[in-house]
Amino acid sequence: MSVAEATRRAGRTDPPTIIAVTKFHPAELVRSLASLGVREFGESRHQEAREKAADLADIDLEWHFVGQVQTKKARQIARYAHVIHSVDRPELLDALAKAERIPDQFLQINLTDDPDRGGAQPDDIEALAERAAASDAAPHIRGVMAVAPMGEDPRRAFEKVAEISSRVQQILPGATDISAGMSNDFPAAIEFGATHLRIGTAITGLRPSHR
Ligand SMILES: *Cc1c(COP(=O)(O)O)cnc(C)c1O
Repeated sequence: MSVAEATRRAGRTDPPTIIAVTKFHPAELVRSLASLGVREFGESRHQEAREKAADLADIDLEWHFVGQVQTKKARQIARYAHVIHSVDRPELLDALAKAERIPDQFLQINLTDDPDRGGAQPDDIEALAERAAASDAAPHIRGVMAVAPMGEDPRRAFEKVAEISSRVQQILPGATDISAGMSNDFPAAIEFGATHLRIGTAITGLRPSHR
């Protein structure tokens, strides 16, 4: 199903923003996509993202960091990333609040019980939102982000994300965005209100294998 069709079926008039996730692909691919009019790009590894952003500094692009962030790297990532989708703990919020330019942020929800997957547990998200609400980062919190767990119905996952999003909006009324939906599950994410899709392989084809 296309993004347009899923948007129409969801009874929405506002199509989601598509972020082209270009991790493991060379900067030249980003340059070609940019020449076709794509402006929003997603990366998940700091070194690689920093190099690409530097290589492509001559083009006006919006960089989204979608991978896990080490607290000690937060301020460096904030130098090139306009939006960080993976804010999942108080120390990271605090580190980003001290950046020269505070990036826009999504609070990431972990829908699995594996802490290595990144994201705050659903029960911890409201405390994180409260901490953000009390900090300089408050106006920069755009909403929530999640990855649907493998092997589960993505509709259930994204329904839960929509519920958590409403709870977060009680605390941060401006945090209305939902970053959810990847190449294989975006129609379900659109159904449950995703405003930002993070699409890799459906745009780029398979990723080159990485070291
Ligand atoms: C790689 C990645 C994507 C894109 O996944 P595809 O299945 O290639 O569309 C989206 N979100 C995150 C967090 C990723 O790491």
